Amino acid sequence: MTENIGIPFLEGHYSPTLDLWPIEAKEFNRIHTFYDNLKEGKYTTTKCKGCGHISYPPRVICPECYSDDLEWIELPTRGKVITFVEKSIAIPIGFGEPLIDAWIDLGKDSPVRHVFSRVINCESGGIKEGDEVQLVVFDVPGHPIEWRKEKWIAERVYFAFEPVS
Ligand SMILES: [Zn+2]
Repeated sequence: MTENIGIPFLEGHYSPTLDLWPIEAKEFNRIHTFYDNLKEGKYTTTKCKGCGHISYPPRVICPECYSDDLEWIELPTRGKVITFVEKSIAIPIGFGEPLIDAWIDLGKDSPVRHVFSRVINCESGGIKEGDEVQLVVFDVPGHPIEWRKEKWIAERVYFAFEPVS
């Protein structure tokens, strides 16, 4: 786990409209399994049991045959940087500098060959094309939820990749 990269100066009193992260609770998100798997360090997506189509990001309905009979499959947690963008100005609120986004090759045997992801735990100039990166799961601020007169904070995580040291 890395340091909290939420919105520290708004901690405890930020507006939901500034929330950068998905609502992950199972009551509100039909792909909550993706986040449950992340909490166990697994990087997963959905595969259609009917036609075999693999979607990424995960889906609740197959975009090819419209079946909702999908299964979860694991993806590699390591890959190589194909190309990337590093931003040091005009960083959106809640993100640190540098803000790095990369196309990552998960390998020819991966069910999903290429993914787009942030790269964190990396200094400016710290990666180059061809570098190996690995999945990293981190905590984000819990999501306050109110449903049927009950209130609770749903714990959340999100993922990025980081250089393999
Ligand atoms: Zn299908």
